[in-house]
Amino acid sequence: SIPLGYFGGIGGASRYGILVKGGNYLEAMRHMKCVVFDKTGTITKGIFKVTDVYVTSEEVDRNELIKIAAHMEHFSNHPIAVSIVKEYGQTIDENLIKDISEIAGKGLKATYNNALVAVGNKKLMEQEGIRVKPMETSVGTKVYVARDNQLLGVILIADTLKKDSIEAIKALKQYGVEDVIMLTGDHEDVAKEIAGKVGITKYYSELLPHEKVTRLEEVMQKAGKKDTVVFVGDGINDAPVLARADVGIAMGAVGSDAAIEAADVVLMSDELSSIVNAIKISRNTNKIVW
Ligand code: ADP
Ligand code: MG
Repeated sequence: SIPLGYFGGIGGASRYGILVKGGNYLEAMRHMKCVVFDKTGTITKGIFKVTDVYVTSEEVDRNELIKIAAHMEHFSNHPIAVSIVKEYGQTIDENLIKDISEIAGKGLKATYNNALVAVGNKKLMEQEGIRVKPMETSVGTKVYVARDNQLLGVILIADTLKKDSIEAIKALKQYGVEDVIMLTGDHEDVAKEIAGKVGITKYYSELLPHEKVTRLEEVMQKAGKKDTVVFVGDGINDAPVLARADVGIAMGAVGSDAAIEAADVVLMSDELSSIVNAIKISRNTNKIVW
């Protein structure tokens, strides 16, 4: 049974848009020593914008490249996909696409106009045997577009920090959180830039969804039983990590149903400072209990 005092805690928390699935999670949050963040949609807004397009084949121009990519991404709800569909800005003809499949942490594959098309990161290109030569670009997430085993071009997209990320991460340290870690499926360059901006020194990049779980398990092992390891994510590709953490916190309530189900705590707000509020509430609650 749940100690009576915790009802106040959970009820109090809900008034701040913090939904806690049980008193034991509030208790666990009191002892949080380590917070592990997902990058996209958690530390950053998860709203990408196309910043550059590099065409690497004579078979297509910029418009055609964006058109192909947008038709593929139309079938994904990843924040990257949304930005490419928006950049195209025209009506999508679903009949052009057949046999679409999404590979979590990599991208999409389908038949487009009777040709095999792959849209995604370098891992996807490697998997498909498509050669990508290194190229000079500004920092950003690179989305490669390939057709019939040939690279057509690269779309560079960028995300921005949430406006309170720097402040919230600083506040966590003031509240006694010793370790702040960032996990991401994104490229090393992007991970380094974002981590640097928010003052996170420990981060892991280019992770597939199951590798995020492995990293979290390593962190939990190092922390030991007493210290709570919290994972904060937006739920896109990270439901398994949310489920594995001592306390899994889903943010923004925009993520998938799977994420809300996997999470122990759901924050209605997508501001990072709501994590700081959650810590405050977990501590005040225990003052009432003891
Ligand atoms: P994050 O850890 O940043 O939340 P994800 O695990 O959701 O990232 O995705 C990791 C990487 O996989 C992305 O940075 C991107 O390179 C690639 N990716 C995933 N989904 C898509 C998609 N729909 N289109 C293109 N690339 C994608
Ligand atoms: Mg994610």
